[in-house]
Amino acid sequence: MNYCSSCGSNVRLQIPPDDTRMRHVCEQCGEIHYRNPRNVVGTIPIWENQILLCRRAIAPRHGYWTLPAGFLEVGESTEHGAARETLEEAGALVDIGPLFSLLNVAHVEQVHLFYLAHMRTPHFEAGTESLEVGLFTEAQIPWSELAFPTVKQTLQWYFEDLHAGGFHHGRTRSRDILPSERIE
Ligand code: ZN
Repeated sequence: MNYCSSCGSNVRLQIPPDDTRMRHVCEQCGEIHYRNPRNVVGTIPIWENQILLCRRAIAPRHGYWTLPAGFLEVGESTEHGAARETLEEAGALVDIGPLFSLLNVAHVEQVHLFYLAHMRTPHFEAGTESLEVGLFTEAQIPWSELAFPTVKQTLQWYFEDLHAGGFHHGRTRSRDILPSERIE
């Protein structure tokens, strides 16, 4: 950040009084511009024994497969955001279930949340951010063409729990994603 979004003056990196971290502080109006992680909310859309995946039409990871997910908007709940993204990217109406996975991706300043979601009908269609959308059985999941480590981990946990005969007693699965984790 170079300029204050409140008054347009220069900002300077400094530790404000009573704080412990460097912040962008406006030299003119004194506003402290905090930077906090963003929430990415998505779903695991389920139809019978299949999962709905989207092939990305946008950067990053253009052409790779993902669960429908996107940035939480101001004023909406995480559940609502997850359902909205599923409709926008995959054209699918879902009933949101329990929070299934929570992944901290600190190095890109994001927290990813995925909800179990049941498709109301088998209808889906690619939104503007998707090249194509499709239902996949476990054997059909394109593991080497997944867009993000959080999607891969969520799908791995999903099938692990499915084979174990339940969804981890309803407890949310969670871990930190490391900078070294890449899908190539
Ligand atoms: Zn200012």
